[in-house]
Amino acid sequence: MLAYRELLENAKPYKVLDSDISEGRLNHCYMLTGEDGLALDNLITLFAQRILCKEGGCGQCTDCLKVEDGNHEDVFEPKNLKADGIREFVEQVYIKPNGKYKVMILRKLDEVDMKVQNFLLKSLEEPTENVVFLLGVQRQTAVLDTIKSRSKKLSILPFSRTQLQDYFDKKDNEYPNKALVKEAIDCCLGSLKRCEELLHDEDFAGDLTNVIFILKDMTSTKDNLRMQQRLNVEEGKLSRYLDMMQLITGVLLKKLSGVRVDGFEKVNCLKDTFNISSLVNFNKLIIESKQKLESNCKESNVLDYLFIKLMEVKYLCR
Ligand SMILES: [Zn+2]
Repeated sequence: MLAYRELLENAKPYKVLDSDISEGRLNHCYMLTGEDGLALDNLITLFAQRILCKEGGCGQCTDCLKVEDGNHEDVFEPKNLKADGIREFVEQVYIKPNGKYKVMILRKLDEVDMKVQNFLLKSLEEPTENVVFLLGVQRQTAVLDTIKSRSKKLSILPFSRTQLQDYFDKKDNEYPNKALVKEAIDCCLGSLKRCEELLHDEDFAGDLTNVIFILKDMTSTKDNLRMQQRLNVEEGKLSRYLDMMQLITGVLLKKLSGVRVDGFEKVNCLKDTFNISSLVNFNKLIIESKQKLESNCKESNVLDYLFIKLMEVKYLCR
């Protein structure tokens, strides 16, 4: 069974598709947009099921199961996102479907080079009967305007904490660790992709607490070594801590700028420690540290440098 089905069926994009089909005005191209890669991916699969299933997207019939397993004869996805893959994909449009509809899926249109995206234009300008395109897009700026204007655009918004909590409450046999679920919901900012990552990361809550403690309490260079010892940077874990710091920085920035954030109360204790400009500088430091890691700098050196610089950032904030 497709993950998060119930949650996604209740989301607005699915309801729009559902009424389009019921009212007999199925569009020839739907562009699903949103930052949540997992929600996009699952929703595209749900859309294909809704279009091809004779029961309206039951999730259980042969058509639905084939769509989910990625081997339905009337569903096409490119074998790669380069010119040859997309060219071959477009050629499929003109071959008659076995059933009533043919569904053409491009889950990551924004990863296709804009020149190559041009190959799609003709089939979108002159729609072929019974062919439906489903396009997934995370970065809208990376998509040709001519494609956008020929698509029905539906955006997936972040899920609220209540929606997620209701969903997981009903699935408590699948997700028995209630504390972990609570933490994941609190820190995922409405993104299924992040929620899923956190649900598989038993150490997340503990590590997050540690990182917040360090950001709050490190006030002088004397603390540097002691604070470094709180983090275990062996086994490539530093990049995970850096991701966490970036997440905290992003959330704090929103909170300090007055944007409403659903969750993440944990970081509120840092509101007095940083201001907007110090957060911006800290974020630059994190990005710099990530680049150093990528160029194979020693992890303990990267962390040492980051903490020294963090102190400067905090000092300037006072
Ligand atoms: Zn079905």
